[in-house]
Amino acid sequence: MKLAKLGDGPEIFHTLQGEGVSAGLPAVFIRASRCNLHCIWCDTDHTWNFEGTPWPHEKDALPTYAKFRKSEVTFEISAENAAERILAYHCPSTVITGGEPLLQQDEFLTMIGHIREAQPEHLFEVETNGTRIPSPAFHDAVNQFNVSPKLSNAAMPETLRRHPQALAFFANSPKAWFKFVVAEPADLEEIQALLVAHDIPRQRVLLMPEGRTCDELDCHSAWLAECCRELGFRFCDRLHIRLWGDRRGV
Ligand code: SF4
Repeated sequence: MKLAKLGDGPEIFHTLQGEGVSAGLPAVFIRASRCNLHCIWCDTDHTWNFEGTPWPHEKDALPTYAKFRKSEVTFEISAENAAERILAYHCPSTVITGGEPLLQQDEFLTMIGHIREAQPEHLFEVETNGTRIPSPAFHDAVNQFNVSPKLSNAAMPETLRRHPQALAFFANSPKAWFKFVVAEPADLEEIQALLVAHDIPRQRVLLMPEGRTCDELDCHSAWLAECCRELGFRFCDRLHIRLWGDRRGV
C-alpha cells in the first residue's frame, strides 16, 4: 500500500481524533498517499500534488512552496507491516485518512483483517471525499465513514468532486456521517442544496469552521455556531488545531 511519508517512516501516528462525531477519541491515524481530487486549499497536498502535475494550489504564490517529488513523500508498505505498526500503539481505534483511502480499499481491508485477528473489537473510521463507493466487504469491516463532499470553494469542476452514486450510497448507510468545512455563508446555501439533491439526512451532517489557526477558527465559529443553532445542524470544532496547531504527525 502507498502511504504518505513522515520523516523516515510511514505517516502512522497516535493522537486524538480532531474532527467529527468521534472528536476527542484517542486513535492511531494512518494516512494514504494519492487522491483523485486536487482541492486548491488541501492541507495534505503531500499526498497528491506531485511534480509534473498541473494542479494549482493556494500556496503556489509562496516562494517556499514547490510541488512534491513523489518518491520523497511516499512510503510503500505491506498491509501486514502497517497492521503491526498500528497494533504497537495498543490503541483500540484507528482512523484511515488520506489522500483518499478508498483508492486503496482492498489493501486497507487486508490491514483491517490483520488487526482484527489480534483485536477483534478494534474500531475503524475512514475519512473519504465521497467520490468512491466502498466494496461490500470494506463497508462491512469499517465502523464509521466520515464523508466530506467538496464544495465549489475547492476550485474543481462539479463533475469531478461530486459523485451522485457514491453520495447516494453513503446517504443510505447508517455508518456514514457527512462533514462540511464552512468558510463563508454562501457555503451554507451550497450545502443545503447538496443535501436536498442527494437525500442526505440532516441529522448525520456536521458543519465545521474553516481555519488553520485558533484565530481563524474563532472568526468563523461565531457565526457558524449561530447558523447551526438556527438551522438544526451539528457544529463541530477542529480539536487538533486547538491543541497542536497546523502540524503533521500529532
Ligand atoms: S479530497 Fe481531501 S486529500 Fe484530496 S485534495 Fe481534497 S482535501 Fe486533499
